[in-house]
Amino acid sequence: MLTSKRIKEIALSAGADLCGIAPMSRFNGAPDEMNPQFLFPEAKSCIGFVFRIPRGVQRGIEEGTQFYQYPSMAYGGINEIFAPAVLYQVGKYIEDEGFEAFVYRNTGARGIVSDMDGSPGNSISPEEQIEINENAKTSTAHHRSVQFTRPTRKGNVAPDLQFQFRLAAVACGLGEIGWSKMLLTPEFGPLQRVAFLFTDAELEYDEMYSGPPLCRKCGLCVRECPGGCIPTIQSGKKITVELDGKVCEWGDIDMWRCYAFYTHAGRYYNPFVPKEVFDKNENGALDLLEGKTKIADEKEIMKVYTALQKYFPSWVGYNMAKCGGCIRGCVSMLEKKGGCMEGRFKEPLRTQKPWKLDR
Ligand code: SF4
Ligand code: SF4
Repeated sequence: MLTSKRIKEIALSAGADLCGIAPMSRFNGAPDEMNPQFLFPEAKSCIGFVFRIPRGVQRGIEEGTQFYQYPSMAYGGINEIFAPAVLYQVGKYIEDEGFEAFVYRNTGARGIVSDMDGSPGNSISPEEQIEINENAKTSTAHHRSVQFTRPTRKGNVAPDLQFQFRLAAVACGLGEIGWSKMLLTPEFGPLQRVAFLFTDAELEYDEMYSGPPLCRKCGLCVRECPGGCIPTIQSGKKITVELDGKVCEWGDIDMWRCYAFYTHAGRYYNPFVPKEVFDKNENGALDLLEGKTKIADEKEIMKVYTALQKYFPSWVGYNMAKCGGCIRGCVSMLEKKGGCMEGRFKEPLRTQKPWKLDR
């Protein structure tokens, strides 16, 4: 018989670290273009899976000696290998019981709205569409959203629908969102990635997390961000979302700026780029990283990418992380200051002052 208990047993034995289940009604009121209820209208349950990021995957960046493992294992490995394998196993069990399993792995696919700034990719008239089409090679309106898509039938949202993974994890009772916009769980702090499965089976549901706040509002993520992408807590610049009665809040992060700094880190935190390249700042391509412009949009980011792509140490199919300061700062704080990671490891992640290049 199909039960929540059995689903969780299978998920954990297949390799998930946590599993929580929400009724689809928890997504009532979500914006249409990000509402998973449109994915599978008959679905009654959303099953969320957590896959931990081993803390050691961050060690190389923490020490400043190895940058490959984090994007490779924590992004590529979990998104491409570990999570799909679990979705596949749990999905087979559910379908053997006569219910459908819409598996939904983390995806690099673009959605109908940009995951950077929420700008729409499908709000253009046919005339505008023709014009953009003609200039498509040089003019990409919204790099992080699909440009040419249409609802496939009346009442549908246009594909590809992407929903907010972190809020979905909160809906499944797995944790809360921290000021840095990361999902925090009581078990792993900010160290996890997630995947989901939607099914028409009715199951027993988990309550949303209601323990002590997982985010300590310590502001370390703000201070450790090399790009100043996360607003201070005192600034009050935040996003607030209510999810079936639970209020979720996080800092209104400058996502395009984070895109630039996460991948290129800037003068003091990218050891792969010679100092002279920053000094020269040819054609102002590095103005964003150098703090010489406040503009952080796709155009500025593409300038940075073009100027620095030859200094990328390697490609893992995912953006090569140079940063993750917010994540490591958060782990360090949650380990040392009475947070949810206290006592998890015999030794703390951070044993010395974080490095910063002297140049
Ligand atoms: S570093 Fe502090 S403020 Fe930032 S997410 Fe973690 S606990 Fe919250
Ligand atoms: S990933 Fe890096 S650039 Fe982005 S918010 Fe975190 S610390 Fe800042």
